[in-house]
Order: sequence, then C-alpha cells, then structure tokens
Amino acid sequence: MARAEKYIPTEKAQAFLDKVTDAKHDRQIINGLKKFLDDRAPEDMLNFYTQEEKAALIAIKGTEQDIESRMPVKITRHYYDLAKNSPPLQTLIKASPAETFDMQGAPDPGNQMDYSPIEGLIHKYELGLIYVASTCSAHCRFCYREELIAKKEIARNDGTVERKGLAQILELVNYINKHNDIVSTNGGRHPDTGREKLREILMSGGDPMVLLNKNLAQWFSALADAGIESIRVGTKELAFYPDRFDDTFFAMMDDFHEAYPEMKFRFMVHFNHPDEFLQKDENDNFIENPDGGLVWVESTTRAVKQLASRNWISIENQAPLIKGISNDAEALRIMQRELKRNRIENHYFFCGRDIIGHKAFNLGIEEAWQLLNKSQQGLSGVEAHARLSITHYLGKTEVVAVTNEPMAGVPGSENGVVIFKLLRGAADAHNKGEVAIVGRNPDAIWFSGYEDRVIFDEAGLFKNSMKSTSSA
Ligand code: SF4
Repeated sequence: MARAEKYIPTEKAQAFLDKVTDAKHDRQIINGLKKFLDDRAPEDMLNFYTQEEKAALIAIKGTEQDIESRMPVKITRHYYDLAKNSPPLQTLIKASPAETFDMQGAPDPGNQMDYSPIEGLIHKYELGLIYVASTCSAHCRFCYREELIAKKEIARNDGTVERKGLAQILELVNYINKHNDIVSTNGGRHPDTGREKLREILMSGGDPMVLLNKNLAQWFSALADAGIESIRVGTKELAFYPDRFDDTFFAMMDDFHEAYPEMKFRFMVHFNHPDEFLQKDENDNFIENPDGGLVWVESTTRAVKQLASRNWISIENQAPLIKGISNDAEALRIMQRELKRNRIENHYFFCGRDIIGHKAFNLGIEEAWQLLNKSQQGLSGVEAHARLSITHYLGKTEVVAVTNEPMAGVPGSENGVVIFKLLRGAADAHNKGEVAIVGRNPDAIWFSGYEDRVIFDEAGLFKNSMKSTSSA
C-alpha cells in the first residue's frame, strides 16, 4: 500500500519544533463505567455512584438503552475531587439512565458533514474548525460531539456511512492554500461559496489539550506557515486537568510566539458552573478573598494567570446551559463575575444542541433565555457580555428576546413572542442580522418546537426542512 504523503515543516518551523519538550501527565483517569459498577475504582471513589444508581445502570447494560454506547464515561481525579461534593458537577460527569430514555436527536448535529470539504475540517462561517483529537480528559454527559467521541458512524453526502475522522496536517494545509489562492485571484471572495480568506482556525475535537506539546507545536507552526492569523483552542482542560498548562507548555507557547509573533491565540474555555474553579469551605460556601473576589482552585488560577499574562492570548468562556447543571441564576452570576475579574471574557452561552438523547439535557429555549437574563441582573455591562446562542443549520443564531406580552394586532403573539437573530450565516455572511419571530412555546427545546407558530421569518429559520430528527 502506498504510504500517505507526510507534511514537511519549513526550516523556520523545524527550528521551533526542535526546542519543544513534553512532560508526562498523570491525569489519574477512570475510563469507562465498568470500574465503578464492579467496585474496582479507587477506594475513595467507590461511593461516587450509589447502589441504586449502579443497579439501574447495570440493568440497561447491553440493551438499546446502554449508556456507554451513546457516550463513553471518563473522569479525571481532579474533576472527581471537585464533583464529589457538587451535585451540578455530578450531573455533568456521571452517567444516568435518563440519558437514553428518549433517543431522539440528530446523528450529526448542525449537519456538519454538509460543510466538511476534507476529513476533519468543518469550513463553516469565516473560520475553519478542525478535529485534532477524538477524546477529552473527561467526558461531559451532554457532549455535543458525542458522535465523534463515541466513534459513531455518520452518513456522508456521497452516500457512504463512516466514522468522523481527524484532520491531517498536510491535507488541511493544502486545502487552506488552495482556498486562499482562489479567494485572492477572485477579488477577495470564493466564487462558489462567497467566503473570504481563511484567517482563523479553531482547533477542537475532543480537546486539543490532550495532545502532547510536540503535536500542538506541529499544528501551530503548520497553520502559521499556511497564512493563518489566529488560532482558537477549544478546551475544557482548565476544568478537567488544569495542571496540563505546565511550564513545558508555556515554554512551547513562548518559543512559538518568538518565531511567529503575529499569530494570535484565543483559548475558548468551557466552564459550566463555578464549582469547577472556585474553592469551597466546610459549609459548602465559596470562600471570600480578603482582597476582593472569591478564592479559586489553585491549579486553575495558576493556569489562567499564565495564559492571561501573555497579551497575544485571549481567553473566552462559552458553555451550553444544561438541565441540572446550569439552571441556577445565582451560580451563573457568580461564574460570569469571577471569570471577567480574572481576564476570561464571557462569550456565549448556548442552548443545548439536538444531539441524540438531548431531551435529558436541554433546558427549554425560553427558560434558558430567562435564566441568563436573571443571572445578569446586578452584573456590570462588561461582566454581562455573553449572549444566548442556538446553532441552526443555517448558522449561529441568537435568542434575542422572549416577551410576556402580546404584540398588539399580531395574530399568534397572544402569549408573547420569541425573537431569533442570525449572528452568522454558515457560508458567507449575507444573511447576518436577519430575524425570525415566533409565538411562545415554553416546552420548545429546539427550533422544531416553534414550527407551528411562526409569525415572521426573514431569516428563513423555519422555511426549509429543519434537517433534524428531533422535536420539542
Ligand atoms: S469538553 Fe466538549 S468535547 Fe469534551 S466531552 Fe465535554 S462537551 Fe464534549
């Protein structure tokens, strides 16, 4: 069999790569549910699942309701230590039979395969998202990449059915070069898609921070040499294993910055609840810092301070609002305030996606909007920057408003309305800012819950097929 062609780093990249060192990380991961069910987990973790929970999970093992065929269980020691006294974190990380009671949902949320010109790349919006890892240090039960992490087979546009694969450096670099060449010879826009030059790549998965420094460094330098100007790193490692942000990682980042000073980094971090980064006293209260603010978990604050001390790195939090984890306005208020105080911007909160089993996780769209608004009462303008977004297959959409009053003379608005606005079109940005207005439905957890009550749809959110198997 012919050997796949390998990416050859430039001389400049090789000089940087030669300096990179890796440290060994022992995340003390428990991989899979079996160790908990067979009582083979470390002794102090044995009661993480109650006897009743274990019995319920054993009863559905191997059936169509099997929890781990939907999404494998994984937890780090660090996250266990945070979760053992935190019900919301337990909901995030512990398997529950409720996840598979109703398996409705889209096998490929957001119809990502429609935007995948090469394996492992989603070229949607103005940026490219690449899958560089198919796991994270631990697994959120509500994961919206469950199809990648659980290695499920997905229908492709060419009619084949296969697992999603990871991006390969050479193939991606060739794609970027070709796309950008076509754009530059066509006056700044691609003639077929209307997209501009690819300037920004979001490294995702899974979590890129499970990779070794040397793998991250290969990606960073290849992307820089392909003309990418900013790299986003989507990661939940600050919650799952903050010690990954160690001296060897920052030495690699600093060497990279020296070699490629114009590259900017955006760490898109993922905190769902303040219990993931704040210390608590014996009465379960957050601890006040005498100099202001609250006391953070030491390893997390160390990592955040290191990231924030580099002015070529920005840090933004984005997280879905999930039932049993985030439906606590006071916790969300504390989280937004503490993140902003520590140089982490509040970027987006998301309505849960229509993944398989989403009914176990998604809050109602209107409830999520009310929750976020309540949580932002009392926050300053800069602390309350986060918007509520929901990802339609046409593009990223904001839930702008939910009204309690009818709109005078407008049929269908008797119980109030919900207003959606397209933030970004999935291809070019021609439809940015267009809105849709629907009559309220407190039970709606996805767009399909409003299909029978559309009042105005300039954005076209309800015009075509919903391209989803879910319903509210
Ligand atoms: S961190 Fe993100 S990709 Fe990883 S399991 Fe959680 S939701 Fe999924």
